[in-house]
Amino acid sequence: MRARVSSGMRVIRLLGGMGICAESALVMLNGRLVPETSITRKGDVADIIFYKHVPPLLASQDAADHWKKACMAKAAGGRARCTMCETQSSVYLPAFCEHLCEAHFIESFERRAKRSIGGHKMIRRGSRIGIGLSGGKDSFALLHVLAGLRKSLPFELVAVSIDEGIPGYRDKAIGNAKEICEELGIEQHVYSFRKEYGTTVSAIARKGKGNLCSYCGVLRRRLLNSKARELGLDAVAIAHNLDDVAQTAMLNIIRNEPMRFARMEHHAGEARAGVYAGPAARGMVPRISPLRDIREKEVAAYALLKGHRFGRKCCCPHSKDAMRWSVRHELNRLEERYPGTKIKIAACAGTVQKLAADALSKKGFSAKACMECGEPSSAGLCMACRMLGEL
Ligand code: SF4
Repeated sequence: MRARVSSGMRVIRLLGGMGICAESALVMLNGRLVPETSITRKGDVADIIFYKHVPPLLASQDAADHWKKACMAKAAGGRARCTMCETQSSVYLPAFCEHLCEAHFIESFERRAKRSIGGHKMIRRGSRIGIGLSGGKDSFALLHVLAGLRKSLPFELVAVSIDEGIPGYRDKAIGNAKEICEELGIEQHVYSFRKEYGTTVSAIARKGKGNLCSYCGVLRRRLLNSKARELGLDAVAIAHNLDDVAQTAMLNIIRNEPMRFARMEHHAGEARAGVYAGPAARGMVPRISPLRDIREKEVAAYALLKGHRFGRKCCCPHSKDAMRWSVRHELNRLEERYPGTKIKIAACAGTVQKLAADALSKKGFSAKACMECGEPSSAGLCMACRMLGEL
């Protein structure tokens, strides 16, 4: 969305006046990424980048008090200065009250991702790591982080892309994924629902099956796991960010499914033997999420600065139908008013995850092999086989 500024004001006020939640968008002013505290001038061109669909617009509202304080920070030509080097800031991190220029933001982003990887022993020297590469901004950012990490920690990196069959969206994203892999010299494998399952997400949608995202997610996870095993991967890196973790935790609560916390992504180094869907489950390739402590907005900013192009078809046409969509926007509104909300929800989810995993272990609950396909399952027949049987 492009807007010409009619009178000088802070970016946070510009967004508020348009009913846009600041947590849902990046703003480029005259072609440069700016923080929400920047001052616009009459005639400036503001490019507002939504990294998912355009969010529901809110009634025009005043910025929360913490934004007012952030706007009073020392300014350079109408823009706050980087906390590290005093040059103009490009990104503001409200939870840490920190302004960063492009270079220091990239450095901070990569440092935090590497800290997650090192802290949870996600990747070992010499291991063979896969990356679930959809071609979207999250996996684009993760690929850049992992490719850079190989300079200090040698390991093999293989991209695995799954084409669910969503025309106009996934085919374009897979095209982007191929381009990035060629650019960075990464081996890539593409698998499709059509070839592996004989159906596509679009075909399932045409059949009017409820909760399309459940079908898509279950079938994608199974395909990713079986192909990761075939490729001899030690772990698969998934580009889940802090928003994904907080949304999943809230969905588990809303749906009253506390035991699903046990299934939330495990760090490979924290495998809990015998727990369903943990890396120790037989046949389950460990999944690691190096971006799980970083907000989606920061992932989008990093991807933008690394050259990701946000197009109109940057998100799945079916995503608006899922409950996750509503949870996402409610969490964004909360985060905008109370910075750090997502970090606290994710931390709480981590505690509940351990409790739920312990409870399942005590009950002697462990993964079995599906009687149909042999993939790990909590029941005789895995969910993917049950779903395929229904189609
Ligand atoms: Fe699949 Fe739903 Fe994601 Fe679309 S939004 S790719 S249908 S899980």
